[in-house]
Amino acid sequence: MKIIIALIIIALFLVVFVYLALLLKKKRRRRKTSSPAAQKRSSSSTLVPGVPEVPGTTTDWPPPESKSDDSLNVTSGSGNDYKLTNFLKVGAFALWYEEGAVDKSVVQSYGDKLNYVRADTLENWHFFDPPNMRHGHCVNIYFDKRPPGVGTESIDAFRCPFMVLNPEYGFDEKLILHEGFHIFQWCGTNCGGERGFAYSENMRWYTETLANTYVALNSSDPLRFHEMAGIVANPHLNMWQSFGNLKGKDDPSSSESWLYGVRQYSCAIPYYLITQKNIPRKTFSEGHYNNTKLSPQEYMFQNIDNFAGLYADFAASTVHRKWLSEEESKLITSEISAWAKTEGEHHVHSYTCEFELQKGLQSCPLDPIASNGEKFLQSPHKLEGEYFYPSDYTATRPWGFNVYKMIVDKPSQLALILTSEGIFELRIVKVDGSVQAVKTAEYFNVSKGTYYIVIVCTSPIFEGYESISYGLKLSKKDISADKRNMIRITNTKAFQYFRM
Ligand SMILES: [Zn+2]
Repeated sequence: MKIIIALIIIALFLVVFVYLALLLKKKRRRRKTSSPAAQKRSSSSTLVPGVPEVPGTTTDWPPPESKSDDSLNVTSGSGNDYKLTNFLKVGAFALWYEEGAVDKSVVQSYGDKLNYVRADTLENWHFFDPPNMRHGHCVNIYFDKRPPGVGTESIDAFRCPFMVLNPEYGFDEKLILHEGFHIFQWCGTNCGGERGFAYSENMRWYTETLANTYVALNSSDPLRFHEMAGIVANPHLNMWQSFGNLKGKDDPSSSESWLYGVRQYSCAIPYYLITQKNIPRKTFSEGHYNNTKLSPQEYMFQNIDNFAGLYADFAASTVHRKWLSEEESKLITSEISAWAKTEGEHHVHSYTCEFELQKGLQSCPLDPIASNGEKFLQSPHKLEGEYFYPSDYTATRPWGFNVYKMIVDKPSQLALILTSEGIFELRIVKVDGSVQAVKTAEYFNVSKGTYYIVIVCTSPIFEGYESISYGLKLSKKDISADKRNMIRITNTKAFQYFRM
């Protein structure tokens, strides 16, 4: 009997043991299949054996101190599709190449320039190292024949940036400054969650704009500003329009129009604010790392004193572009002409209207046609009483602007009278190229020559593409008539001439 009881107990133990073992196995399997991150990690480590995982890449804050350059490891990552085995370690970068495919001095030059970008961006732009360096690994640069790319966009299996350079391109300073800067913008797009400076929608323009600002600040290549043609050709578009973030109603797509689609690569706005208005570089870069949820345009609005006024000054400065060299400025004009030839001049709306003051805004063509027969506007301008209403198609959108070119034949006093529900800054670009800020209904003097009226929309709207409707009226006093009148009064010994 005792033996039977002992056997039953043993059997019960066995049943419980087997049941518990099965339960544990099932749990493990469920955990494995329910976590995509865990799946990704496990497949990555089998894809690239021997590459240590970089821990805490998405949530580490504040970032740990970087290791010294000497102690950084060189480890080929998942971006090494070409299985390159030769490398040159230059500071914090490991440059991988095929013997004979690229000159070793070119590899060294890229390494030197990348280390310059690193030192400069950490010091002057308040960026941080990407996770590679913070956890003891060099950033990998691969010379192979894929299209060049990097930075914020190229993330290897361990969520670390790497870069691909085409060995046939030779040393390209602008390319390495641009792509190298992207490496240090890393957190803007890759620190987890939807950040304000993400590479998407209304924020996307800024990553590219700022990388090209870095190029312009560090290179003297006259082509560094040529994308500004997009702003000069279509100033009414929003600051944040980009090739991945088109488009307003009836706008051409980026594939149809370089002049509409290139805008995000123009460095003009941050470059102007840094060099002409002394805004510190870090104002433009800290938002990549400080977890802001604001878009770059709203971030600038909140963090730069009188941003609306400074932006209006920028808008007015695009007319004569005095802060560029003559060659750089001419390049923008010739860029617009060249693209107008290939894409059609109806893609250019530099001036809302060109008119003679004598004839007034009433002389503006309401539905102009380009030489190729295309309409410049999708809907015509309108005249209502003495007010000119620009077409919805080219009326400025928030954080865009309109430019009116005005020929003045004799000295006058002039006031702009604006009617709108939007918020606007007004600027007059004078004959000598200087800029005057004016308010609605405030008189200013004009003499013979060409002037530009710049209407800048600074309504606190930071997304979307709707234009802001406004009516513009010019109120004119003819000074020479007044003067004749004054002289007559003076001759009657009233001595009131000084009232001018
Ligand atoms: Zn880029």
